[in-house]
Formats: sequence, structure tokens, C-alpha cells
Amino acid sequence: MTPLEAEIRAMIEIDGPMPIARYMALCATHPAHGYYMTRDPFGARADFVTAPEISQMFGELIGLWAVTVWRMMGAPDAVRLVELGPGRGTLMSDALRAARIVPAFRDVLHVHLVEMSPVLRRRQEQALAAAGVACMWHTDVADVPDGPAIVIANEFFDALPVHQAVRAPDGWHERMVGLNGDLVFALHPTPLPGNFASGRARLVGDAPVGAVCEWRSEAMVRTLAGRLARQGGAALIIDYGHLKSAVGETLQAVADHRFADPLDAPGEADLTAHVDFQALGDAAAREGARQHGPLPQGEFLRRLGIAERAGKLKARATAEQSAAIGAAFDRLTGRGADQMGELFKAMAIADPELPPLPGFETGAAS
Ligand code: SAH
Repeated sequence: MTPLEAEIRAMIEIDGPMPIARYMALCATHPAHGYYMTRDPFGARADFVTAPEISQMFGELIGLWAVTVWRMMGAPDAVRLVELGPGRGTLMSDALRAARIVPAFRDVLHVHLVEMSPVLRRRQEQALAAAGVACMWHTDVADVPDGPAIVIANEFFDALPVHQAVRAPDGWHERMVGLNGDLVFALHPTPLPGNFASGRARLVGDAPVGAVCEWRSEAMVRTLAGRLARQGGAALIIDYGHLKSAVGETLQAVADHRFADPLDAPGEADLTAHVDFQALGDAAAREGARQHGPLPQGEFLRRLGIAERAGKLKARATAEQSAAIGAAFDRLTGRGADQMGELFKAMAIADPELPPLPGFETGAAS
């Protein structure tokens, strides 16, 4: 039994079953035993690989995206470049290197990293030590000081806790984690209040008994959107997920590159669920921000010029390096089930005064 499982069992014995979202939050960020708090999951024995770890092209293109957005903002003489959940710091390091070609941008930058994990924070400090830009760390996005901001979040929202509810004949019941010898899923005995379904009428109205509905707290995206709408700037959100809200269950656990049971070995597996981009966009709109996209990651990266960038890198590469660049390009942009181009989506939320942002000039994917 993992140390976190022992703690979760004790909590359930005292307080009764807990919502899946609470379980997921403990698994990810419990101060002593949370998955991200205790390890670098992107290391040599990596559980999973993210886009910035696949190729430097990803962070570089995002760095140039940030430069263009800064210009669209009227090139303010101070701008906060914020990353949520920076992992190993690779994306930010590649972005800052690419942004060197515009010294005027680098001169006005304040870099802020929002990270709860002390282990990953140390890793980020190492990655950014040579970047030549002062960096500040925060545990919560609400702690980033005021001012115009450009925010990047790659594979951040998928790690935030989701709630689940299951349709029963008498309404929707929240799915909980309880104890029956082992940790088990169990429905809350009382249905969720009627406004749960009425607020999602189009989504859950005629879902059959047994259907599962997932949702996340909107607190994080609303903090971000409200700030951008009032103080200027834009956020780029890239994650795996769906363009439109849909009924269905996507919670998954990954350990050692393999799918695992989410209730097995809490704190030892990465728990994630699809990002509902429609819900993110709607929440941002309620705070007065404008939504750009979403569109598939492959399309977004092509519009930012990834093919040209790959071509340039290949031109000065050995045959072996060139093959690796080609493979990374395919992985980032391809439409296959094991590729990221179609599965992952890119969306921005921004100050409504800003024109269409780079990559999002036309809404529909071509
Ligand atoms: N963006 C990185 C890492 C993605 S993994 C990449 O693409 O490689 C998720 C990241 O979010 C990790 O750095 C994790 O520690 C952080 N994280 C997860 N939940 C968080 C929370 N509630 N607040 C702040 N950071 C969080």
C-alpha cells in the first residue's frame, strides 16, 4: 500500500467517501506523497513524454508566438511571461532562446512560473539558470503580480482535478472514492441538485442511465481570464481534449508508460482527464475574455511555421539528426492515435481588445 493510500483510507474512515476531484487533487499535489511533488515524471524513467520534451521546435515556436502577441498588445514596456505547470522548464527555456532575436521583448520581460512541486521547481531553476532572465516562482496563478501578461499552459489543465457524475433513474449522482476492503468507486446516495442538470441541459438532457459527465472547477480559468480582460494580454492553452463538451468518461492513470487503474497505487501514477475546451472558453467569456480557436495542435503548429523550422534545422543536421527532427515533426503534428497533432488542441483566451492572435487568424482548421 502506498503511503498516500493509507492516508486516503484514514480520511474516508473519518469523513466518508470523497469526490473523485478530491482524490485526484491528493494524488497529484499532496504535499508529501503527491505524484508531482515527489518526482520528475519527465526524467529518464519517464512516465510520459510531453511536446516540449519531444522537440525544441515546440517551445521555440511558442516563444515567437509570445513576441508577436506582445507586439499586438502595443509592445508594453513591461510584460509578464507566465507559464502554468512548467514541468522540466524546457518549453520556457526554448521560448526564451528563440525570443533572443527580439532584444526589445527580452528587455521588458518578467518571467513567472506557477508550480506547486518543489522537485519540478528545482528542475526548472536549473533549466532556466542560463536563460539570462530573472524568474519568479509561485504556487498559484492568483499570486502572479498585476500587469499585462502572456500566459502559456501546456498539459496543465488535464492534470487539474475533475468531478464525475453518473446518471441514475432519480438524477445525477456524484461519483466518489469510498472504501470496501479496497478503494472503490461509489455513487453519492443523494442526487446532485436540479441546477446541475438544468445548467447543462443541452449536454446531459437526454443522456441514458449509466452515462458519465465530467467537469472541472472553473476557478483557475476564471482568475486567468478576468485578469487578461482587465489588465491586458493573452493565454495559450494546449492540451489533449475535445473541442465541444460531451458526455463521457476520460479519467485515466498512466504509470511507466502504461495505463493503470486510477485507484491502484495513489500518488504513483499520473491522473489526467480530457480538457473540455468549450467549458474553458465559456468560463473565460463569462469573465469578459475572448476565445481564439480551439484548433488541432498540428494545424496550429503548421500555421506558426513548424515545417519551415524543421527544414532549417535539418539543413544543418547530420542524417541521423535529420531523421530525429522528422520523427519529432510527425509526432507533434501527425493525425494518428499515437501522435499529438489531432488529439491535442490549441486555444487562446485574451483581452477582447486584441485582434486575432497568431495561428488563430481564421477559426476553422484548413
Ligand atoms: N508543461 C509541462 C508539464 C506538464 S505536467 C510539459 O509540457 O512538459 C503538469 C505540470 O503542472 C507539472 O509541472 C505539475 O507539477 C504542475 N501542476 C499540476 N497541478 C498543479 C496545480 N494545481 N498548480 C500548479 N501546478 C500544478
